[in-house]
Amino acid sequence: MVTTTFNTTKSEEIFAAAQKLMPGGVSSPVRAFKSVGGQPIVFDRVEGAYVWDVDGNQYIDYVGTWGPAICGHTHPEVIAALHDALNKGTSFGAPCYQENVLAEMVIDAVPCIEMVRFVNSGTEACMAVLRLMRAFTGREKLIKFEGCYHGHADMFLVKAGSGVATLGLPDSPGVPKSTTANTLTAPYNDLEAVKTLFEQNPDEIAGVILEPVVGNAGFIPPDAGFLEGLRVLTQEYGALLVFDEVMTGFRIAYGGAQEKFGVTPDLTTLGKVIGGGLPVGAYGGRRDIMEMVAPAGPMYQAGTLSGNPLAMTAGIKTLELLNKSGTYEYLDKITKKLSQGLLKIAKETGNEACGGQISAMFGLFFNPGPVHNYEDAKKSDLSKFARFHRGMLERGVYLAPSQFEAGFTSLAHTDEDIDRTLAMAHEVMSSL
Ligand code: PMP
Repeated sequence: MVTTTFNTTKSEEIFAAAQKLMPGGVSSPVRAFKSVGGQPIVFDRVEGAYVWDVDGNQYIDYVGTWGPAICGHTHPEVIAALHDALNKGTSFGAPCYQENVLAEMVIDAVPCIEMVRFVNSGTEACMAVLRLMRAFTGREKLIKFEGCYHGHADMFLVKAGSGVATLGLPDSPGVPKSTTANTLTAPYNDLEAVKTLFEQNPDEIAGVILEPVVGNAGFIPPDAGFLEGLRVLTQEYGALLVFDEVMTGFRIAYGGAQEKFGVTPDLTTLGKVIGGGLPVGAYGGRRDIMEMVAPAGPMYQAGTLSGNPLAMTAGIKTLELLNKSGTYEYLDKITKKLSQGLLKIAKETGNEACGGQISAMFGLFFNPGPVHNYEDAKKSDLSKFARFHRGMLERGVYLAPSQFEAGFTSLAHTDEDIDRTLAMAHEVMSSL
């Protein structure tokens, strides 16, 4: 039932003003809701599994500030820890003990990480890891996959996912050809294509980077044997394997996708969850590789705000909350109920759809499927997705505003939230 109080007057006013002040009215493109009608809601506050907009509408939130809010928004323990840290200052630009604590937690959790460097975003982490791959191997080429997103640095804006996919901007102007000349691409889940690239460029490929479970072209899991095959191929050709776990880290499992699938890369990038909602990224991996990073070694990378005490504190508390028994079982249980429920409703209401979930990450394509890669994902009915998105929004459910983004659940989502979401989905899908 559409809430009779659903009114977005204030959101409309604020967004109209924002469009005169900032490009597209936003600080990051997908927030503009361009592919789902172009009228975003403007947030006022967040708590637990919910967000409230400036008109007072309440929504069940499946975006979770794009991943960090895995314990629910404004968890009281995270907020209390942040208050304590805030009283001691917002930034030191000098070592703080909280860096050691979070570093130790990350190293204990993520199989490939023996040393870690903190930065301020996933983009920064991916930029740095690429420099490190090149520095360590002395090679310049890299392989990435179509539809995977590794932040907005030039070298990665080739057939990228996320906002680039949502807005249909595969090759952004302003990216020099010389910068992407060494970026080779292959379809996700296509080991043969990767093998061919290695054969065509022997001794030239520094490494392979991928989302071990794709979230930035919609939710696409790796086929059986794909990650294992990449591990073997990279070793065979003397290249590095890098998992970009900015999204999957501490979400797919405490130790990320590498724990879940039992495949250990050489290097890993992290972000989102490990900052508990404050700006953080990290890269880490084998000690012999990480020791190349300055000042231990010659590969330069730095940051004024990196490792700042507030972000470290929010990350530490978030990981403490996640590292309790039963958390991932709970996340898997409610997300499975949501994902299977949505697929069943789609079938009952005559909408062709496919999708799935792993732990607290899920996706639904309006597409008969199966979806193994970005080309498959692009066959989805985007106008149907836009109508679904709007219908859910009007009924108090906030989904990622793009068919090419995964959904996220949190420890704060209850069975009742899932039941309500499914009831609303039934209403909306009946009228698509
Ligand atoms: N890598 C992946 C897998 C991501 O999902 C994202 C962000 N969605 C990034 C990198 C970039 O992170 P950030 O937005 O923090 O720069």
